[in-house]
Amino acid sequence: MTDYDIIIIGSGPAGLEAAITSVIRHKKILLLGQNDLSSKLRKAHIINNYLGFHDIHGPELADRFTEHLQSLNIEVTPKKAAAVYDMGDSFAVQSGAEMFQCKSVILATGVITKNLFPGEEELLGRGVSYCATCDAALYPDKTAIVISYSKNEEKEAEFLAEYAKKVIYIPMYDDPAISGDNVEIVSKKPLEILGEDSFTALRTDDGDIPADGVFILRENIAPDSLIPGIEMDQTHVIVKSDMSTNIPGVFACGDLTGPPYQFIKSAGEGNIAALSACAFIDSKKNV
Ligand SMILES: Cc1cc2nc3c(=O)[nH]c(=O)nc-3n(C[C@H](O)[C@H](O)[C@H](O)COP(=O)(O)OP(=O)(O)OC[C@H]3O[C@@H](n4cnc5c(N)ncnc54)[C@H](O)[C@@H]3O)c2cc1C
Repeated sequence: MTDYDIIIIGSGPAGLEAAITSVIRHKKILLLGQNDLSSKLRKAHIINNYLGFHDIHGPELADRFTEHLQSLNIEVTPKKAAAVYDMGDSFAVQSGAEMFQCKSVILATGVITKNLFPGEEELLGRGVSYCATCDAALYPDKTAIVISYSKNEEKEAEFLAEYAKKVIYIPMYDDPAISGDNVEIVSKKPLEILGEDSFTALRTDDGDIPADGVFILRENIAPDSLIPGIEMDQTHVIVKSDMSTNIPGVFACGDLTGPPYQFIKSAGEGNIAALSACAFIDSKKNV
């Protein structure tokens, strides 16, 4: 297990600013996210309210962010955090089959805009999963459905297909390019997760698909699924003004702490979260 001072989960403005501030404070960090940083940042047409960068296109601002990271030798590790475990005096962050250890965690995963499917929350952990790599081993000789919102998840589904008898892959994007003899790509619209005590089938706009389990792979995972026990107000993590959460050593920033959903607010909170995480780590040294 690799050791870090701070693991930052999310590569939008909040996570990037948290990474920059942490490195300036001489902390060893791991920044988990996407190579293209943030799809929201890329989609923004003209940004007029980010101090010092008026009339700037989202992709151009993203390039400026990348230059800033490079100037400090900060790299984004293009991996998705699947779970965070509180180990008492440290945290373990799982990404696929890998585990990373750290003293403090900063959540900067953005806000979940997609609605959950009816039945999803009720059957989570009982046939509904958000992490194919974590649960693939439970599927020998079984059939799994994967509802995938991004091309980035194709590797996850291919890994699952190495274990499962069959994977039914439902892409929620264009031009899927997933491979595997036991992978069937199905173009149907998922509507509802069915089952009483455990998952039995997926209802779609074109009939029910029975299976042993369903993996729902979105760009971001609900914070309370990532870290059980974190206090939430609906889809937002509850934070104090220093960006601390109810779990000592875990900080949150950006869209996931609530509106206004703005670049500058996210970056500002990323700065505060990093300074608070540094202070948390330094306070432990003196105990
Ligand atoms: C079309 C559009 C235009 C906009 N225009 C403006 C504007 O003009 N001005 C303005 O101020 N705001 C604008 N916004 C809002 C702005 O995009 C958001 O407020 C901002 O991106 C939030 O930053 P964030 O860092 O909190 O989250 P995000 O930018 O959403 O970044 C979160 C990142 O975390 C990653 N992530 C999530 N879960 C995990 C995980 N488990 N492991 C690893 N990585 C993970 C995601 O992939 C993503 O890269 C716009 C938004 C959109 C969609």
